[in-house]
Parts: sequence; C-alpha cells; structure tokens
Amino acid sequence: MRGVVFPGDRRAEVRDYPDPAPGPGEVVVRMKASGLCGSDLHLYRQTAAQRAGNDTIPGHEPSGVVEMLGAGVDTVRVGDRVSVYHYRGCGHCKHCRAGNVMWCAERRGYGGPIHGADADLLLTDARNCLPLPGELSFAHGALMACAAGTAFSSMRKLRVSGEDTLVIFGQGPVGLCGLLVAKAMGGRVIGVDPIPERRALALGLGADAALDPAETDVVAALHDLTHGEGADLAFETSGSAAGQNGAVDCLRLGGKAVFVGFGVRQKTLNPAQFIGRQLTLMGSFVIPIYMYDDLARFILDHNLPLEEMVTHRFSLEEAPQAFTLFDQGATGKVILEWA
Ligand SMILES: [Zn+2]
Ligand SMILES: [Zn+2]
Repeated sequence: MRGVVFPGDRRAEVRDYPDPAPGPGEVVVRMKASGLCGSDLHLYRQTAAQRAGNDTIPGHEPSGVVEMLGAGVDTVRVGDRVSVYHYRGCGHCKHCRAGNVMWCAERRGYGGPIHGADADLLLTDARNCLPLPGELSFAHGALMACAAGTAFSSMRKLRVSGEDTLVIFGQGPVGLCGLLVAKAMGGRVIGVDPIPERRALALGLGADAALDPAETDVVAALHDLTHGEGADLAFETSGSAAGQNGAVDCLRLGGKAVFVGFGVRQKTLNPAQFIGRQLTLMGSFVIPIYMYDDLARFILDHNLPLEEMVTHRFSLEEAPQAFTLFDQGATGKVILEWA
C-alpha cells in the first residue's frame, strides 16, 4: 500500500509500505476519505531532526470500507461502510468499558504511535468500526471521526439552546462544525477568526456574525451584540492565547466556555478573570465512542451540511500539495479521497 510520511520541515511524501494483516479482533479498512486536521500540522511542522527515523503514517480521521477480518471478528463484515473511532483503546479498562476510550491509559492514536489513515489501508480493532449510515458520505465519516465529533460533544457540554448567544473562537473545521451543530440546536452563533476566507465560510454556513480579531476589539463587539451583557457561551478552538482570553473575557456573568484547542503551552489565564464572574470553564477532548450514534442521528435529522465546509479534495498521491495548502490556513476542511 501507499502511505504518507512527514520527513520534517513542512514536507509530506508518499511512500510504499507493506499491506497490514489483521490479527485476532482486528480488521483492515480500505480508506475512502481521510481528513487533514490542525493537529496533523504540529507533526508536519516539526524539524527534520525531530522527525528523524519516524515513518509513522499520519491521519486520524478515517472512513472507508472493511476489507479483511482477523480471527474471531463477527461484529463487522467485509464491505461494511464505516467511520473509524479516533483512538484504539485496550477494550477492557474502566474507561474503555464506559465508552471513554480517549481516557484509556493504553490508548494508541493513528499517526502516533500507530499508522494512520493517510494510506490505502488502515489496521484497526473491529470495535473501532462505527457504522456509517447509507445517506452519509465517506467525507461525513471522516469529519465525524474528529472535527464533528469534537464539536458535537462540546455543544452537548454547553447545552446550547435558542436562548443562547455562542461565540466560537477559530473558524477552522472544528469551529465550523461547532457552528453547524449550535445553529441546529437553535443558538445564535458569532464566529471569530483573523482569516477572511474562514469568516466567509462561517457566514456562508449560517453564522449570525463573523468578527476579525485583528480589526475589532472582540470583547467590546460582543458586548455590543448582547445588550452589554456578554455572550452566554463560548467555544475555543483556536488554541491561541488571544482566543483563550477572549473566550473568558467575552462571557456574561455566570457564562460557560468549552476549550478544545491545543496550541499555546504556557499559562494564558488568571483565575481573577473568572472567580468573581462565576464562569464555568470546561475542557473537552474528542468524543466518547458511545456518542457516535447520536452524532450520526443528529446529522441526519438536521440535514447538517457538513460537506459544505470541505473546500479541497485531493488524491493520496497529491498529499504533498494538500498539506502545503492546508498549512497556509485559508481553507475549510481538506480531505484525501479515494475513488
Ligand atoms: Zn483531527
Ligand atoms: Zn482501556
């Protein structure tokens, strides 16, 4: 099979790899769509020295068709259309049993430490294969494996309703998925992003307003848009210090925020910003595996136009161009697709 590798310094190459063979409980999935994610760029941007000897295939947003079954697999069949859950867990610890596979101490992520989805074939556990409804495309399946799942579980934590004004910092794929879910839940949604193409995408997908933090005092603008009170809810996807502070400072008294953007690693917030105002600040990380079916039902019931945020589609051979383009930030979702 062919697979992508990051040799370092913002380069991607396509190389030949041996085809994987499924062991007991495992399956091989033939990829049909694989999404590029902001978190891939952390690896893509490492130096050649940091990447030395690392030929792990990236890609943690897999969707495809089950091709081979290992011994003892009777929960999926060859030919099943699937979205593949984000982490392989041990399958038996208390977190795996509860469906919180992202908390498993032995979790293994595609792209590190195990081979990921930017390849013709993906080896995974049968229990990671989540049925993709016939009405949903493989691009949907790829989005559900990461961006849409992260956004959906976050919007559930915020319990968005028609009474809420929600501000979303960062209008990349996770922020745009949050926008679509929150609008379907009835919320009023204001997007924030310095990149004009992303603000335009947000407005096209139904944002009530889109603010440029380079041009506008976002906190003041949000107070103007909320009768001087501040936003009820905030969703921070940018991972920037400005976004993290903005998500706290724009809230009304007693407001709530969810943070999903990894980025800055130094401290950016001071508890003095949220103690007196009694804010609720939450982290969120991927999606529990049991929530996948609710996400699929939500997308179908609300006819969520997730594919409209896919702005660029490439073949596996074109992965170098795909990453060069995605790295520049002016895109919506970028996916690799197979015929
Ligand atoms: Zn992702
Ligand atoms: Zn486990």
